[in-house]
Amino acid sequence: MTPMTAPLDSTADAFALTPIGRIESDYPDKFGIPRQPGLAPAARGRLVLLPPYDDPLTVRGLEAFSYLWLTFVFHHSPERWTPLVRPPRLGGNAKVGVFASRSTHRPNRLGLSLVELKGIDTSQGGVALELASHDLLDGTPVLDIKPYLPWAEARPEASAGFAPDAPPQCAVDFAAEAETTLAQREDAASLRALIRQVLAQDPRPAYRKGAETRVYGVRLRDVDVRFRALVNEAGETRLEVVEIVAV
Ligand code: SAH
Repeated sequence: MTPMTAPLDSTADAFALTPIGRIESDYPDKFGIPRQPGLAPAARGRLVLLPPYDDPLTVRGLEAFSYLWLTFVFHHSPERWTPLVRPPRLGGNAKVGVFASRSTHRPNRLGLSLVELKGIDTSQGGVALELASHDLLDGTPVLDIKPYLPWAEARPEASAGFAPDAPPQCAVDFAAEAETTLAQREDAASLRALIRQVLAQDPRPAYRKGAETRVYGVRLRDVDVRFRALVNEAGETRLEVVEIVAV
């Protein structure tokens, strides 16, 4: 690492950033990933640091923090962006400014997530941070890690525009066949929790919110979770896990 002494040129057209690590995630596909990390606490992942940042010295003291900010690149988002976006929270119709949103289609494609730190694994020579409660696609390049400071950064009284509260959750059931598959897995409890938390967001596109005969698939860990939507007399949506298929 060459120590940098000169300030960066503030008028530069571009700055080069180097990933310090890469994410291994319960989310192999974008479809189904909750829209913020806290919505699926059961989501597990690892941030594997890359050389030369994988020196255990870089994370000394980090184990004493339970939450981290990760800055990362939405590497699966298009480079193209527009000044107005349609947040899913507004039903996919109303538009807000890209900088008034957490859209993944934004200039510089930078993402910011508050994630839970469960442990630090240095047993294989390098450094891997064990994460939970994240919203990161497998393979996501991470640019920086910072410890979260609740006394400075938690602002429960803050106004939050078009997303003032957590999104509504829908009920999730497991059909007998899905239960049988789950029961055979070592990670049954955590996979069940993850499926529940992911499907509670109703990941279907915004324009499909009623009952449908169609069966959807969402990939989590090494399985494809097949589900369908049912609506009761009161108009409440329930998602049913029809089967869980190994992929
Ligand atoms: N907490 C972040 C991300 C919010 S958007 C932030 O506020 O910046 C969350 C969505 O990002 C997820 O639903 C997922 O589909 C998408 N996502 C996660 N990792 C991604 C990646 N590497 N490339 C593109 N999209 C990604």
